[in-house]
Amino acid sequence: MKIDFSQHVSASLPSEELKSQTANHSSSALLNKRQAAVHSRISSLLARQIPPQPLFNLVPQNPFVIEAKKVDQITLLSGISRYKLLEQLITFAKPLARPPISNYHVGAVGLGKSGNVYLGVNIEFKGFPLNQAIHGEQFLVANARNHGETELVAIATSAAPCGHCRQFLNEIGNDHIEILIPNCPPKKLSTLLPESFGPQDLGVLGGLLTATQVSKLSKHACPVTAQAIDAANASYAPYSQAIAGVAIKATDGKIYSGSYLENAAFNPSLSPFHVALVAFVADMREYSDICEVVLAEKADGHVSQAGLIKQLVKGIAPQATFKIELLR
Ligand SMILES: [Zn+2]
Repeated sequence: MKIDFSQHVSASLPSEELKSQTANHSSSALLNKRQAAVHSRISSLLARQIPPQPLFNLVPQNPFVIEAKKVDQITLLSGISRYKLLEQLITFAKPLARPPISNYHVGAVGLGKSGNVYLGVNIEFKGFPLNQAIHGEQFLVANARNHGETELVAIATSAAPCGHCRQFLNEIGNDHIEILIPNCPPKKLSTLLPESFGPQDLGVLGGLLTATQVSKLSKHACPVTAQAIDAANASYAPYSQAIAGVAIKATDGKIYSGSYLENAAFNPSLSPFHVALVAFVADMREYSDICEVVLAEKADGHVSQAGLIKQLVKGIAPQATFKIELLR
């Protein structure tokens, strides 16, 4: 039987399992409203005995960002809960990883407060130090932030998050986020990272996703530079104040940007180039498509991204030009 989505509610939580799960941690009235609508819808569908569809037929070809409405459709038609969907999407994420050094594919899948689902994968750079790698969970958080998500409710991972990622997740400042590790009950981040060191220890309020994001369009003759400046203005750089942004232009003219994201423990910070690459990879692009990279950063900051990013661009996209715009 074919289902006409226009007649359906834009939400779905199709099992008693999820009903009990979400009853404990639904973080907004919006979710409760969606739950009620969904359960009414599910009851109606079950009464009509519609068989569940395999996920393979339902998940979009590019699954890096699945919008809430689509998530609702998938859970409705597959008959699985949203938490179960997060776990099962790991299988879709892992093949999209780019780990030429370890060949170890990591998949991470997160549910945002908006209802959107975001994927994360690990990215490694051959010829560069291992600490330049983007971990799957870091990719996921940067991907969510790039799409304006302000809170993550739960994250499913292909393996237990490493210490680096636990520290990175701690910067979100949401102790309630649930981590779904294979074959384990959901765990709070505080269970995985007890007695943590975080932003509050350095006097920083808010967090990586909740910090104010500036999105005014900067005036600059070059649109790539303008986007790099916008990204710099949206930085999360409470420890150095050295805001920085990167914009990557692809051969078809499409521009991808990323903001500098700092961490209280410093080392898990992500450069703006790494965050822009997250946007680029999340659009399933190849590095050979990069034709221009612009870094906008503070002229006299305690931190400069220029040297590192210049080398990374040379290493992964030698055909691209690299420019620096100093902010005063
Ligand atoms: Zn990690």
